[in-house]
Amino acid sequence: MSEEKDSLTEEQKHEDEYEKVCYICHRPESKAGKMIELMDGLTICSDCLQKSFNSVSQMDPESYRELMEFSKKFPSMQMIHLSDAPTEIPKRQRVKKKKSQQEPQKAFDIKSIPAPHKIKASLDDYVIGQEHAKKVISVAVYNHYKRVATGTMDDIEIEKSNMLMIGPTGCGKTYLVKTLARLLDVPLAIADATSLTEAGYIGDDIESVVSKLLAAADNDVERAEKGIIFIDEIDKIAKKKNTNQRDVSGESVQQGMLKLLEGSDVEVPVGANSKNAMVPLETVNTRNILFICGGAFPGLEDIIKERLNKQSSMGFRADLKDKYDSDPNILEKVTIEDIRKFGMIPEFIGRLPIIFTLEGLTKEMLVKILKEPKNAILKQYQKLLALDEVQLEFEEEALEAIAARALEKKTGARALRAIIEEIMLDIMYEIPKDDNIGKVTITREYIENTGGPQITLRGDLAIYG
Ligand code: ADP
Repeated sequence: MSEEKDSLTEEQKHEDEYEKVCYICHRPESKAGKMIELMDGLTICSDCLQKSFNSVSQMDPESYRELMEFSKKFPSMQMIHLSDAPTEIPKRQRVKKKKSQQEPQKAFDIKSIPAPHKIKASLDDYVIGQEHAKKVISVAVYNHYKRVATGTMDDIEIEKSNMLMIGPTGCGKTYLVKTLARLLDVPLAIADATSLTEAGYIGDDIESVVSKLLAAADNDVERAEKGIIFIDEIDKIAKKKNTNQRDVSGESVQQGMLKLLEGSDVEVPVGANSKNAMVPLETVNTRNILFICGGAFPGLEDIIKERLNKQSSMGFRADLKDKYDSDPNILEKVTIEDIRKFGMIPEFIGRLPIIFTLEGLTKEMLVKILKEPKNAILKQYQKLLALDEVQLEFEEEALEAIAARALEKKTGARALRAIIEEIMLDIMYEIPKDDNIGKVTITREYIENTGGPQITLRGDLAIYG
């Protein structure tokens, strides 16, 4: 009995964290003012209550009688009784109360933001290679949250550290941002630029990214306002060339994002993608939200090469004309001018002051990705088999063969998981059948389909499959 009581108070406590919402206009208490409780859990704001009184009192007796007569002609028409209506508004559509002003709670204390080298060291545990990107992002994030913690500086306002990441697909752009958000314990929303369109057209409107962040922050506006928004495939909203049609998903999306990137108040629906009459709205300020945009920018290398070749063909160095054609690190030499030529508008690039590139993954890096990160895919399989008391080992040559197969697919590290899953399927199926097996070694021959894995029985008896 007392247990029941405890759980009830627990639930009530949880309820207290959420704002009351008006059942008629769906505005939260912070917007509509004190709520009036009509019956169990059903609350209504004073504006709506007043409006209902007005409309009833203004109805003369004659119109009231007419209305009743009219409704009798339609026996199937039902009058809605408030008491029959569901009183619950889904929790995912409700907003958490703001913390009271008396006890200001700082999410970030300047002293508690880890120094850039510490942020990078933590990233190193998960992300292989990409040294330059990890360094840039650590410094930028450090500066950004220092700026958030201090509020506006006295005379100098520190510029917002929004970022633009350029790198081939599967090289770790999304992974880097995800790892960062987890380490910093800030909410993260990941959106795809290809799904965004100008407001009013089919697709998600631009502000939906903020709505996603609010959901990731558990409808806690204060937490959302210090979060990170990652917009992937940003190159897909480049200005379209030679088109007469209205460009609702390219340049105009860039235009629409300017205010968000810079910092503005946006009204976003809580717990839904679109604004409609039934969804409560909440205001989120994007001033302290860190925006990171990423894209592969196919064709950008040619633009850079063209510029560099043009420069080097001038004057005495004309003989070096094709010098950059086979430069593997050409992307590192990107300038704002190249990105503009690709189709991003200058105002947009201007709001992403930190631009950096990520390298395409090499075979060596892919091998490391397989085995080194804290949550490396091999470690995951080793742990799974260890539960059956079976050791799992991969020969170095087998790892290289897997990496070589992944490279062929040209999707970066993304191909690794699919390959490993395919290889491990039979192993995971067969091993638990036989209790005598103590160790499995994956060989190069097994990866290349010319042999089997090496099985070692408990008791050191080895059989070569
Ligand atoms: P993209 O650059 O296209 O956003 P992702 O970050 O989504 O690529 O990478 C896909 C997956 O590959 C990640 O979930 C991660 O497991 C792995 N991965 C990619 N790059 C790296 C890296 N540099 N270090 C460790 N794992 C990586």
